[in-house]
Amino acid sequence: MIEGAELLELFQWENRELEDIKTDFEKIEGIKKELADVLIYAIEMSVLLGLDTTDIINKKLDHAAKKYPAELMKKNAQKGSGSGADSEYWRIKKEYRAKENS
Ligand SMILES: [Mg+2]
Repeated sequence: MIEGAELLELFQWENRELEDIKTDFEKIEGIKKELADVLIYAIEMSVLLGLDTTDIINKKLDHAAKKYPAELMKKNAQKGSGSGADSEYWRIKKEYRAKENS
């Protein structure tokens, strides 16, 4: 979490476009360093626990694809309702959780 916070700190109080960040050499160098820290700890944890990182990532992506169907999420983004309380995102999430708990 500490390394994650160091990564996020690079974006604190900023609202820049992705393309602007990508051309900021100094910013990218900072991101690379903090992202490496995060990845090192995450990979180390998976190695120590004997987990197959490819498998757990693929399972999570499959899960997310079912939970948040791409077509619905694209429609939601176009409507501009984002993740607001009345958004399609929350409706889908609630339905998914209800199904999972039944
Ligand atoms: Mg760091």
